[in-house]
Order: sequence, then C-alpha cells, then structure tokens
Amino acid sequence: MKAGLLGRKLGHSFSPQIHSCLGNYPYQLFEIEPEELEQFLLHGDYDAINVTIPYKKAVLPYCNLTPTAEKLGSVNTIVRQPDGSLLGHNTDYYGFQSMLNHYSVKPMGKKCLVLGSGGASVTASAVLRELGGDVIVISRSGENNYQNLVLHRDAAIICNCTPVGMYPNNGETPINLNQFSHLEFVVDLIYNPGKTALLLDAEKRNIPCCNGLWMLVAQAKEASERFQNITFPEKSIEHIYQKLRQQIENIILIGMPGCGKSTLGKMLANALGKTFIDADEALVNAYGVTIPEIFAREGEEDFRKKETTILADLGKRSGHVIATGGGCVTREENYPLLHQNGIIIALERNISKLPTQGRPLSQSNSLEIMYNTRLPLYRQFADYAVDNNGTPEQTLAAILKLLEEIT
Ligand code: NAP
Repeated sequence: MKAGLLGRKLGHSFSPQIHSCLGNYPYQLFEIEPEELEQFLLHGDYDAINVTIPYKKAVLPYCNLTPTAEKLGSVNTIVRQPDGSLLGHNTDYYGFQSMLNHYSVKPMGKKCLVLGSGGASVTASAVLRELGGDVIVISRSGENNYQNLVLHRDAAIICNCTPVGMYPNNGETPINLNQFSHLEFVVDLIYNPGKTALLLDAEKRNIPCCNGLWMLVAQAKEASERFQNITFPEKSIEHIYQKLRQQIENIILIGMPGCGKSTLGKMLANALGKTFIDADEALVNAYGVTIPEIFAREGEEDFRKKETTILADLGKRSGHVIATGGGCVTREENYPLLHQNGIIIALERNISKLPTQGRPLSQSNSLEIMYNTRLPLYRQFADYAVDNNGTPEQTLAAILKLLEEIT
C-alpha cells in the first residue's frame, strides 16, 4: 500500500511521523501544483492519500463521497477502490470531535465563536452544532465580523479556524481575548507553533485551551483505518499524540551565566535525540561579532535587541534543546518566543559555584546583585526548576525524570 499527503507546500508536515506510528507503509509528500491535480489524482502513484490545503474542495469532482464528506463538502482522505474509482472521506470531522471529547469541551447550549469560514470552519461548526452549541461564524466579510465582536462578548468557546498565527507568522492573533468575559475554552486548530499568540493569551488569563495537534493525530488515525481497512483502539491517539509532542517540543534552559546550560543542553539533546543550539553562539554567528565586542561597542541594550531577534528565530523551531544567554529573562517579550514551542527549565546553581571569567556582565556588575535581581525573573519564566549543584549526570537524570513525569 502506497500512501501519502497531497498538498501544495508540505515542508513542515507532521503527517509522515504520525503515519509511521500507524502502519508499515511508505508515506510520501506529494507537492502538486493546481494544473497537475487532475493528472495526479487519476494516474498518480498512490493507493491512499490525505489531502490538505488547498485541495480539500478541489478533489471533490474526482471522488465518490462518504456521507460526512458530502455533508461538509470537503475531503481530506482519498482511498483508491479495487475498481480504480476514488472514495473521498472527511476524517477531520472525527478528529475535531475526538479533540473536544479529550479536553472535555461541552458546547451544549453555549455560544461558540468559530473564526474563519474555510474548510476547517465548516467542519468545526458542524461538530459544535451537533453537540448543541450555538455557533456564530466570524468572517472578515460576513455579517458577524471582527468589527462587531462586541455582539458576542458572552461567547463561552472560541475556535480559531484561520491560519492567523501559524508558522512562520508566529505571534499574530486573529482576536484579543480581553473583550470576552464568559470564556470557558479556547481551541486553536493550528499546531505549529504549539502555542499560538491566541493560546498564550488564553493561558495568561487562565482559560483552558488546546492546539490542533490532538485533532491532527485523531484524523490521521481514522484515515489510516480507511487506508488499511483495520481499526485502532482509541487509546492509540493518546500514545501517538504524546510521542509526537515530545519529538517536536523544544526544551529551553535558562539560568545564571555559568550555571551549566550549555553542558547540560548538549547532554540533554543527546539523550532525547534533539538538536542542541546555544543561543549566544547563534547570535555570534549571525552578527559576526563576539558578545564582549557587542557590549563594548554598542552596550547592553543593543545586545538585548539582537538577542531577542535571535530568540524569535530559535523559538519558532521544533525539536531543539536551546541553551539561552543568562540575561534573556530581563526582557518580558522573550517569554512568548521561548514558551510558544517549549518547556522552560531553570537550572539553579549556588552563587558560590558560578564562574565570572569571560562573562561581561558577571565581571562588571556584582554577581550577587545580578543573582538577586534575576532569581525572581528565572522563576517567572520557568515552567520547572532543576537543581544543578551535583554532577551534570545527576542533573541530566533529574531533568529526564521530570520530563517523564509531566507527560
Ligand atoms: P482555509 O480553507 O484556507 O480557510 C481559512 C479561513 O481563514 C478563510 O476562509 C478565511 O475566512 C480565514 N482567513 C484566512 N486568512 C485570514 C487572515 N489573514 N485574517 C483573518 N482570517 C483569515 O483553511 P482551512 O483548511 O480551513 O484551515 C484553517 C486552519 O486550520 C489552518 O491553520 C490549518 O492548518 C488548520 N487546520 C488544522 C487541522 C488539524 O488537524 N489540527 C485540520 C484542518 C485545518 P474569512 O475570509 O471568512 O475571514
């Protein structure tokens, strides 16, 4: 069985990783231009494919449709039948339903704002309505739009079905949540970054929320069942979701200069099969000047601006261990950059064990003042703190144990 994903730009797809957990079949990425679509669908070298942006509607004329695909007018899975015809399914419906169920979202009798009016919006709206939600679609050109959101301040659920905030446009958000006072849950169908600006906003307000990764895995599970004509247990979604989440999340190490971030970062990357990046080294490579030179020539403020630019780039990546510069916590704007795709761990080391040589700020300021000023900032940024006063091996073991426990 030859499977794959049909779309136009597929560089960052997680589907091959998910399908490798679902069966032993080759899963290829088919990047097809619109003018090649018919030829590919009718004569392409595949038995079963998933379909993504921008072809979920374009494939309709070539397929017989399941009742769900017909109802939604959108196909995300095609299986070639023994007689050569194509059967189009919509497994996003099941994926979205499974996600609401997993996060215990109960739309019955509640106002649900669905942002965007494309394919995913149709699917999400259908599921929310079926579960008793009072669905309002917010569209840039609709009767309900971003200018009259005030009419919907009583919304309990918001579901972002627009691509706003999706990689590489991290940090953008379709709406600000400050205008809603009854919010119970926020869903963003985007899964890259793991936390969009919308989800970071929800998190800051203590509103329960989720991204679209669970939906992605659940729809793939149902697609693979159609590909292989088998059934997987429901719990396989959780298993694959956790595996994928661990693979793609970054681990960010913060802490005082010399507290062991680079040493531990390399060891951790090695243990987890992730790529290690030292943010200070990335900065030096990007600007072609050493950090003491930047401090001497342009001062700390300029260095911090450069550092934020580098963190904006590094924070967008997936599956890395990132050792940050000791002062990254002094700029609040660095927090969402680091947090959007990762777990932030503060390495705590006693001041008496911190070196000062070759570290511009540790030399010029009193280390103790810096330590006392920064400690609360590290605690504010960190999701977890780990003691690094023992051997590196002990600290590595403690971090690995922590990562296992929080799964
Ligand atoms: P789509 O068919 O292109 O629809 C997106 C809709 O978003 C558009 O119809 C538009 O609605 C709105 N929109 C587009 N650009 C916008 C902008 N700059 N500002 C505000 N609104 C904008 O795409 P889709 O297939 O529905 O996918 C939407 C998002 O969901 C994507 O990020 C996709 O990756 C994600 N998705 C995730 C999963 C999953 O499994 N997690 C599954 C499907 C889709 P209006 O013109 O009405 O404003």
